[in-house]
Amino acid sequence: MPYPSWTVNAYDLDLEDVHRRLDTWALPAYRARQVYVGLWARADTYEEMTDIPGALRRRLDAELPARLEVLMERSADRGATRKALLRLGGRHVIESVVMGYRSRVTICVSTQVGCAMGCVFCATGQMGLEGNLTAGEIASQVVWANRAARSLPEWTPRRVTNVVFMGMGEPMANYRATSAAIVRLQDPAGLALGARHVTVSTVGLVPGIRRLGVDHPQVGLAISLHAADDELRTRLVPPNRWWPLAELEAAVAAWRDRTGRRPSIEWTMIDGTNDDDRQAALLAATARRLAAHVNLIPMNPTPGSDLRPSPRSRVQTFAGALRAKGIPVTVRDTRGRAIDAACGQLRLEAADVSAERGARRAEAG
Ligand code: SAH
Ligand code: SF4
Repeated sequence: MPYPSWTVNAYDLDLEDVHRRLDTWALPAYRARQVYVGLWARADTYEEMTDIPGALRRRLDAELPARLEVLMERSADRGATRKALLRLGGRHVIESVVMGYRSRVTICVSTQVGCAMGCVFCATGQMGLEGNLTAGEIASQVVWANRAARSLPEWTPRRVTNVVFMGMGEPMANYRATSAAIVRLQDPAGLALGARHVTVSTVGLVPGIRRLGVDHPQVGLAISLHAADDELRTRLVPPNRWWPLAELEAAVAAWRDRTGRRPSIEWTMIDGTNDDDRQAALLAATARRLAAHVNLIPMNPTPGSDLRPSPRSRVQTFAGALRAKGIPVTVRDTRGRAIDAACGQLRLEAADVSAERGARRAEAG
């Protein structure tokens, strides 16, 4: 590692913190803003900040490193999707995906290394929880994405326009950092994203849903439901045991009343498990009560589970049953399928690769 582990990560500081630091270096006040704007608004490395003298850039790099390393990067969908394995803060290895569309560029950010929730179909869940990201580590994924956006096809915007908290981890299980990251994303001197262009996805941790509505009423909410009765849901999504459907629904209804926004329901389509007519009818009733939009996600198979994706025809029938009841439904595109789009898969694969390398090294030695 190029820096001692105690070195602060520049992305963990807000503009005031940078001011205070550079003050102790006896630098004029405008330098702090230059550094902060360079790091966040322009997504520059210190080396690229040519408006700052070389000696100062070298000192910044040594004493206030901006710790955002790309360990692996892949692209798919003719270059419109890019996925990276990032090392943040010199220690946390996570995945981010950026997806370019005609009118928007969306990044899917991670909030934790792994996840403790244990959803049976999820590659991140199969990893267990290794640690929480800091607010700066969460927000700095957008800096990577703004760099990556420069090489997306020319028909997409050049910058990230939308952020979804749908990468590795459960945002509500790392609420403080998630909330501070949402604030950081909106900083007018930095990324300057609108809160309405940010969506937090949760498996249904009720206290977090309550807090999000109070702290960030403009931010969107997606609920990963996946099952519309408690028995099946507890089997697929273990935290349902603590926050069963009735409680979850009450929290989402309160969020909707407070924010005036339409929640979305995420539903991963699993063959012979949650894709039958009965679940469709129960889901339609829930979505109607919540005035929610439903997003059906074709399941990505993961190495740690035998569950299979629903056939395409079943997805269409299920979507049709919801539409027949007047529920707005979209079927999520399979962006990045060729590069293991299901969150956690690239990281699992990288772990396999390094385990293999280790084994080979051990054999060789
Ligand atoms: N922990 C949060 C956010 C991260 S998961 C949550 O669960 O909402 C983001 C979305 O990806 C969730 O809706 C999750 O259910 C879905 N997902 C996880 N594994 C998947 C897989 N193998 N195939 C399809 N979707 C998956
Ligand atoms: Fe965690 Fe979300 Fe995966 Fe469940 S689906 S294990 S909550 S990341």
